[in-house]
Amino acid sequence: MELFSIKDKVIIVTGGTGVLGGSFVHALAGQGAKVVLIGQNESIGKERVATLKDNGHEAFFVAANVLEEADLIKAKNTIIEKYGRIDGLVNGAGGNLPEGILSPKEDVFTMNIEGMKKTMELNVWGTVLPVQIFGPEIAKTGAGSIVNISSVNAKRTVTRGLGYSMGKAAIDMYTKWFAVEMANRYGDAVRINSIMPGFFLTKQNKNLLTNEDGSLTERGGLIIKNTPFKRFGQPEELIGALIWLLSDASKFVTGMDIGVDGGFTINSGV
Ligand code: NAD
Repeated sequence: MELFSIKDKVIIVTGGTGVLGGSFVHALAGQGAKVVLIGQNESIGKERVATLKDNGHEAFFVAANVLEEADLIKAKNTIIEKYGRIDGLVNGAGGNLPEGILSPKEDVFTMNIEGMKKTMELNVWGTVLPVQIFGPEIAKTGAGSIVNISSVNAKRTVTRGLGYSMGKAAIDMYTKWFAVEMANRYGDAVRINSIMPGFFLTKQNKNLLTNEDGSLTERGGLIIKNTPFKRFGQPEELIGALIWLLSDASKFVTGMDIGVDGGFTINSGV
């Protein structure tokens, strides 16, 4: 449908090498977007691009650390050289880092602050920096869109990952704050919103939610119990919100956080 069209738009997906990012790049390319995967894992990135190209889509991979300004500037120059424009950015790089997770045996007063900081840094500055570097190009198009990835951990207390929860909570304020500041300067030429996924089984949370034999950990079981739909999400269930936010169908939407969580955040458990 034309209203939701992202055809020929040049869209960057950071963390395009990840599980949710993989679903994003396939869906966006499938809708005719020119997709740029950004990530650190060159072999996964290149493999994904090859699959996309085999399916007749336009895509390429740029190796970059989202916390390194020099990498991002280099990536921007490569993209502009190739396509001449950037229409959209999906900030998919992020997640819980093992060193930022408090084990039940650890004392809360001696938790690994450095690990928490590292996790916050990835989730906050790993989103802010790409916007700083790619944003000016996105605004130039007159109809640009940036999509951040928040989490239910920013809204409800989820044990063990304080750095992650604080990082995603910061993303929520950043999305709102930046939406207003960009609008003050660029009008409706560039929008910024976020998607709040519930629980999806991916690389960064697999060990927390499942045992080696694939059965659920106690934590995984609690999540299912507290999700009204009684299951994890499937990565492709985020795509509707993503395409809506990247297309002109959401032209008057900025600073918003769109929940895709099977009811987790609105559930009191009673
Ligand atoms: P994932 O680990 O599969 O993907 C994350 C990707 O980001 C990986 O490819 C990783 O290599 C890349 N990355 C990490 N640090 C990077 C850096 N410094 N520079 C460049 N790339 C880097 O995890 P995922 O679950 O697919 O996560 C995608 C996003 O969704 C994250 O922001 C995560 O916090 C968020 N999220 C996930 C869930 C879930 O249930 N899986 C829920 C809510 C939010």
